[in-house]
Amino acid sequence: MIKVDLIPPMQCTKCRRPAIIYQRYSGLHLCESHFIQDLETKAKRAIRNHRWIQPGDHIGVAISGGKDSSALLYFLKKILSPRRDVDLVAITIDEGIRDYRRPEATREIASGLGVKCITASFVEEYGIPLDHIVLQKGDAQSCSYCGVLRRHLINKVAREYGLTKLALGFNLDDEAQSTLMNVLRGDASRLRRKTVPFPGMVPRIKPFIYVPEREVALYSFLHVKGFELGRCPYSHNALRAEVRQMLNLYAWNHPSTKHSLVNLGEELSGISPSSESGERGICGRCGEPCGTICRSCQILDEVRQWS
Ligand code: SF4
Repeated sequence: MIKVDLIPPMQCTKCRRPAIIYQRYSGLHLCESHFIQDLETKAKRAIRNHRWIQPGDHIGVAISGGKDSSALLYFLKKILSPRRDVDLVAITIDEGIRDYRRPEATREIASGLGVKCITASFVEEYGIPLDHIVLQKGDAQSCSYCGVLRRHLINKVAREYGLTKLALGFNLDDEAQSTLMNVLRGDASRLRRKTVPFPGMVPRIKPFIYVPEREVALYSFLHVKGFELGRCPYSHNALRAEVRQMLNLYAWNHPSTKHSLVNLGEELSGISPSSESGERGICGRCGEPCGTICRSCQILDEVRQWS
């Protein structure tokens, strides 16, 4: 007769119902309803503490169709539906990544949640998909090109639609990785840079900044149908991928590390007196806010020289 050791299901620390998640950093087991309550409390607290949503705001949620942005759209729709003084719209950017980016699936997620979705694409805006840029320039910098051009386009679209805030699905892991990447690059100016609104740039809000990635993923599984599970074919090129792996390994034994890094990033970002606004101008070519030179126009010039 075969003996099987049965592991008893864990109980929720708060109510003794079956737990669906264990938070290593808090030591809590949580059932579905206490998990949802915990996540939403953290996100609402982030919004309140940063004063991210004000009466009269028109908020654009940048959605890619992935778990983070889909979960964010669901959450914001849920908390803002009762309010008549705040509008919500989704924005999706089609970078032109074959067999990965599917704007129609993203639009379905938004319509399933009852939110209007605006779509813009690299091909319509720049005349070239990301796949062709990568073909021409090699794939080592694919995420850097993609990020610059996507930020540029999403800001332009948000301004054209009169949006007052752009909500991004960045989670605790993303923020911790960004801080660590700046440390590893020795980029003190980025670490110390205080992000303040400047003309032409629609302010960003990040309600999931204190919620770990796996919890955002679980929240998305519980609430959103049809989000993208695949990985971008270029994601292996990002320095972020290496940093993610390293940080996850370290955080396994030191569960509060990601929270510490986010706190460090926030503390340092308040230090520098030279805010971004002082260095910003308007690109003479595309009219978007930029530093001394618009990086998007620079990339597009390089790409066009090759074609
Ligand atoms: Fe763009 Fe890189 Fe993200 Fe792919 S992984 S969508 S190339 S930023």
